Amino acid sequence: MTLRVGGLTPLSTTDWPGMLAAVVFCQGCPWRCGYCHNPDLIPPRSENEIPWQAVMEFLHRRQGMLDGVVFSGGEPTLQAGLLDAVHEVRALGFKVGLHTGGMYPSRLAAVLPFVDWVGMDVKAPFADYPRTTGAEGSGGRALAGLQHLLASGVEHEIRTTVHPALLSDTDLIQVGHELAERGVHRYVIQAFRSQGCRDESLRQSAVRERSLQDVGEELAMLFEEITVRT
Ligand code: SF4
Repeated sequence: MTLRVGGLTPLSTTDWPGMLAAVVFCQGCPWRCGYCHNPDLIPPRSENEIPWQAVMEFLHRRQGMLDGVVFSGGEPTLQAGLLDAVHEVRALGFKVGLHTGGMYPSRLAAVLPFVDWVGMDVKAPFADYPRTTGAEGSGGRALAGLQHLLASGVEHEIRTTVHPALLSDTDLIQVGHELAERGVHRYVIQAFRSQGCRDESLRQSAVRERSLQDVGEELAMLFEEITVRT
């Protein structure tokens, strides 16, 4: 089963911190976050799909020139073909990174033994997920995904994108506590960027009560490492 790929970035230094990586954007996502910066990747199919074989040919040519390949999205674990794709990429000698929202816990658990690093988005307090994702039950699925990730021991970064209209400072502090209670050690808070977002009301700048740095400082005692990206 081949992977449906909606885009390919030949070289990124930011999608997997500290690594030179190609990024494979997997087509399809079951959620509808208003702030999504890649809405073209949400539908299950796209006119702009890149055949998996073409991705592999590109990666053959990049052997020895990249540290790794990041599967991003959309949501990579939506696709049953992810595991085979990961094996094919590893067979070329690349390390494998994965971006996920954790919403397919079983598929995530199956792929984790073959992944070197995961960037997982935690979007809200787990009970309040639908406000951001538009999907009932999404918080429970994300929590199950997070628990698989933490149990796996795979290196990871948990991050939350903050739009003031969707996540108040109080909500963000609650997310921090929910993560720390479950054993997350490293946490990244990142400010919403309007690039790519199609929701006009969210594109308008909304005013925060406090700066993200202030909230980050309040949460710092809960984590070994906390990063605020504004
Ligand atoms: S989970 Fe990610 S890809 Fe899916 S809608 Fe939300 S922001 Fe977009």
